[in-house]
Amino acid sequence: MHELSIAYNIVNIATKAAQEAGAEQISAVHVRIGALSGVVADALRFSFAIAAEGTPLANAELIIEEVPVVVFCPECRAEVTLPNPRLFRCPSCHRPCGQIVHGRELELVALETP
Ligand SMILES: [Zn+2]
Repeated sequence: MHELSIAYNIVNIATKAAQEAGAEQISAVHVRIGALSGVVADALRFSFAIAAEGTPLANAELIIEEVPVVVFCPECRAEVTLPNPRLFRCPSCHRPCGQIVHGRELELVALETP
């Protein structure tokens, strides 16, 4: 399960940030995951609880923002959100488009302290 290694990564980065900020505890962690990142939100939540054990993040809430796939359609000259992330076609003109603007995100966005 690669979510577990991602969770350990998040915990490591957040623990370091907490130490640098002089915070003993972190109450919430905000992450952004794209529909194409290959990360399953539920699996990440589960893994996070394991990875956070015994760290300043032990009681932290993991807040996940799921980012849909957004591509640039050269026909419409616009960024469009794909209703189906597996079908790379513009929903308005049905032209295939592969220029991904959003959806690959896997980011630690913010940390909250109590
Ligand atoms: Zn289009």
